[in-house]
Amino acid sequence: MVVDCHAHTTFSDGVLSVEQLIAHVTALGVRPSVADHCSGDVRGALHTIEAVRNYLDELEKHDVFRGGEFCWHDSLWRDLPDDLAARFTHRIGSLHAIFLPNGLVMHAFASPWPSGLDPQRYMDAHVDNLEQFAAGMPVDILAHPTLLPMALRKMPLEELWTEPREERAVAALARAGIAFEISNRYRPHDRFVRRAVDAGVRISLGSDGHTAEQVGRIAWPRELAARLGVADDQLFDPLVHGHRGH
Ligand SMILES: [Zn+2]
Ligand SMILES: [Zn+2]
Repeated sequence: MVVDCHAHTTFSDGVLSVEQLIAHVTALGVRPSVADHCSGDVRGALHTIEAVRNYLDELEKHDVFRGGEFCWHDSLWRDLPDDLAARFTHRIGSLHAIFLPNGLVMHAFASPWPSGLDPQRYMDAHVDNLEQFAAGMPVDILAHPTLLPMALRKMPLEELWTEPREERAVAALARAGIAFEISNRYRPHDRFVRRAVDAGVRISLGSDGHTAEQVGRIAWPRELAARLGVADDQLFDPLVHGHRGH
């Protein structure tokens, strides 16, 4: 059975309990993970080390993979003690915000578009951040690699993710051994995923579900992976590929 490596519960901004998530995902023939937000900078997230400890205590009572979605721009992942880090079956990193060259933090969801910022310059900064993320953040998976600020979502992904930018991103993930998530929620374009596969980057499937209708929905990501030649048994499996660096 394939794994939905990325889904949320009421421990952060999801609406399902852990039990409900497991029931819904398992009913779809998919193995469940809980991967709640662990970040000081996401509303409703696990904000403290103590909260993360309670979260892991609870997840260990269930038959479910224990993931966590950490924000690159937030410091909580740096403060995570090794004993807690080791209790995750897999850790996911997200660029929910990036640092612009002028030091400003640009949030994908919350920030207004800075006046005068050229989309192509933003993308250069985004890929700079992605490279720093891959080199420095101890995670197994990059969540939704094509998530970008709201203001850019009307532009075709291929015009923002130019081939040289895709190349840099994929090389950074390959060097670090970080998997590329095919998100059902922020769907990547084929060319980027194909480039990741060709570079030997492992592919992970994620619903990024927050509701009963969304969790476990990985048919679209799975079909895309299969079409690009990635068999089910090559997909990221927390049991086999989790715990980068452990
Ligand atoms: Zn996310
Ligand atoms: Zn998420």
